Amino acid sequence: MKPKGVLVVGSITADVTAFSRRFPGPGETVLGDDFTLVLGGKGANQAVAAARAGAPTWLAGCVGRDPFGDLVLAGLRSHGVELGQVRTVGDRTGVAHIRVDASGENDIVIVPLANAAFGADLAEESIRAVRDQVGVLLLQLEVPMATTCHAAKAGRAAGLTVVLDPAPAQALPDDVWRHVDVVTPNESEAGVLTGVRVTDLESAARAASWFLDRGVGHALITLGSGGALSVTAERTRHYPAYPVTPVDTTAAGDAFTGFFGAALAAGLDDATAILRGMAAGALATTAPGASPSLPDLAAVEALISR
Ligand code: ADP
Repeated sequence: MKPKGVLVVGSITADVTAFSRRFPGPGETVLGDDFTLVLGGKGANQAVAAARAGAPTWLAGCVGRDPFGDLVLAGLRSHGVELGQVRTVGDRTGVAHIRVDASGENDIVIVPLANAAFGADLAEESIRAVRDQVGVLLLQLEVPMATTCHAAKAGRAAGLTVVLDPAPAQALPDDVWRHVDVVTPNESEAGVLTGVRVTDLESAARAASWFLDRGVGHALITLGSGGALSVTAERTRHYPAYPVTPVDTTAAGDAFTGFFGAALAAGLDDATAILRGMAAGALATTAPGASPSLPDLAAVEALISR
């Protein structure tokens, strides 16, 4: 039997967010209304989502020896993420510097800091360390690209199911795709990577073919309130979204990928894993923030059975 755990290789940040009625113009200072400081980073968010979905979950990543490092480790620990593969390197934990205005619009500066020190050798070491306990490897693009590409190759060689969320979108070396079992871009990421502007199901299917032509087994394009399109060599299937009233769509994609990966690791079929991911993504839009908005398995199952 395949092991049921999930390994996430990815970024960890402290999300530092200031809320103000409007954004300051260049050189201007405005008074804000609120402030939050929470665990973030696509890697950390996916790990929290997978752990909340019930999978034994390891996160491989790097933090710094500073108060933000203590904060993010405490956040991961509180959600039950295994920390044995998190390294402390240097003095500074990665930061996402976020501003949100009254309309909910945001802008973000990500400073990788410790995440930039996450080398391919460390990723491979982590895969070796936990390969007997995990069946699924989740990857994104907020750590050095060479690290993600090497992890895909090493994960495949170790017999893991490799899931790549290509976010934030950037061009990747062509030979990475044959090591990827499932790719989970949203519409805009699919557009950047494939050159196909995704505006409807037909264009999403064309973008999906681009990934399949390069060796990906399953292209799973997430379409926000449009649900998701799943394309393999055998079949194409559209899954409509669960109806919810969104208040903040941050981390919907991370919730989707974390719950999808955890379900695959638990041995559930693709269709069930997609429904779990979609329900988790929908619920993540109904609460503000990133990691604090990630739902648990009970809430996801309740939405699916409703
Ligand atoms: P990302 O956050 O990466 O842009 P999406 O917005 O596509 O990813 O969201 C991932 C999944 O979460 C979608 O496939 C969908 O099932 C669900 N989701 C996202 N936004 C909504 C929404 N407004 N209503 C219902 N479901 C949503």
